[in-house]
This record gives sequence, structure tokens and C-alpha cells, in this order.
Amino acid sequence: MKKKGILVVVSGFSGSGKGTVMKELLRRYDNYALSVSATTREPREDEEDGREYFFKTREEFERMIAEDALLEHACYVENYYGTPKAYVEEQLSLGKDVILEIEIQGALQIKKRYPDTLLLFLSPPDAQTLKRRLVGRGTESMDVIESRLSRAVEEAEGIESYDYFVINDDLDACVEEVHELIQGEHRRVSRSMELIDEIREELKEFNK
Ligand code: ADP
Ligand code: 5GP
Repeated sequence: MKKKGILVVVSGFSGSGKGTVMKELLRRYDNYALSVSATTREPREDEEDGREYFFKTREEFERMIAEDALLEHACYVENYYGTPKAYVEEQLSLGKDVILEIEIQGALQIKKRYPDTLLLFLSPPDAQTLKRRLVGRGTESMDVIESRLSRAVEEAEGIESYDYFVINDDLDACVEEVHELIQGEHRRVSRSMELIDEIREELKEFNK
């Protein structure tokens, strides 16, 4: 039987580079599956339904909640965001490491439901870089940018709930660091108990 994959949550302030880092991670390595969330926010110019998000109306989203089709959901700057359950469960059982790029309220719900989730928090090297990246991306109005920056102040208070804090300064270094953290997680003793028990049994042969 194939070993189950690891569930990984990547959070970080809006504009910290989560999307950019994940895209590059998936381009370089093939054992990752990125969950595509559902959201009620409007698509950005370069976004495609089913690729960046499943874009839903409020009614459609609320139906997904009622049907228990989401692993978690949260409200972020006046919109709903949530993780469709079926894809995540399917990919984990296929042995893929599944990445959820979600905000902190969702991250905490996931940790409660799946305590062995690996939680990574991605941050720019400093606050000015964050603002520069968010403005530079050019996808939000100044009003929305201000709301997202004030949300970052709150999110920063929750960083202690995460396992690792990763700085996204040099993109290449950051992608490799995220990859190494996930690969390191595979080597945790508690994730290899089946194999360890097998080796224990085999070793007993030497005592006969
Ligand atoms: P998030 O998904 O966290 O909101 P994005 O991936 O959209 O952030 O990145 C925000 C902006 O910062 C984008 O314009 C992106 O090209 C840029 N960016 C991301 N990572 C880096 C980096 N390591 N160095 C410079 N610019 C970056
Ligand atoms: P954006 O509008 O910039 O794409 O995303 C806004 C915030 O929502 C980001 O912090 C992003 O990580 C988060 N987010 C995206 N998808 C989900 C999701 O399915 N659940 C939760 N809880 N947050 C999400």
C-alpha cells in the first residue's frame, strides 16, 4: 500500500508570495498537489475558474458549506474562502503531499481536524517589502490593499500556532526551503511506524 501523503498548510500575509512560491514548487517537484479553493471573491484579470480558484456566488458557497463539501472555510476581507474536501482526501490517499494555501482561521480548523498537519508561515523579509509587493502586483485597489495590510497585523499575532516560519526573500532559496521542510517531515518517526514495526519484526529473526 502506498504511504499516505502529508497535509501541508501554507499561510502568510497577502502579498508575501505564497502563490508565487507554490507555483514554482509545483513546477520543480512532482509529488505535490495544490488544493484549489472555492471563493466568493471576484476573479482577477489573469485568473481562471478551476485553476486559481473555483469562483462561486454566495449562495453556491453556502450550499457547499451545508453539504459538508468543505474541509474548512473562513471569511477574509469580506469574502468566503474554503477548501473542497474530495480532492484533498483523494490526493492524500494516492500518496501526494497536499498543500493548502489558506489563511490562519482555516489553518487552525485544519490543525484541529488533522493534528498531524504541517503548518508553514511564509513572510517577506520586512513590512515595507510586503507593501511594495502588494502594490506592485497591481491586482487590488488601494482600499483593498489597506484592508489586507491591517489584516496582516492581526495575522502576525497568530504565527506561534505554526510549525515553521519561512522568509521569502530570494524566491529560489525559499522554494528549496519549503521543499526541504516537507521532505524532513516525512522522516518524522511517528510517520514511519508501519515500516519501523516491520524492521523490528525482521530483526527478531536474528535472535532465534
Ligand atoms: P500572495 O499569494 O502571498 O498574496 P503573490 O505570490 O501574489 O503573493 O506575490 C505578491 C507579489 O510579490 C507578486 O507580484 C510576486 O511576483 C511578487 N513576489 C513574490 N515572491 C517574490 C520574491 N521572492 N521576490 C520578489 N518578488 C516576489
Ligand atoms: P487572495 O484573495 O489573495 O487570493 O486570498 C486571500 C487570503 O485567503 C489568502 O490569505 C489566502 O491564503 C486565503 N485563502 C485562499 N483560499 C483559502 C481557503 O480555501 N480557505 C481559507 N481559510 N483561506 C483561503
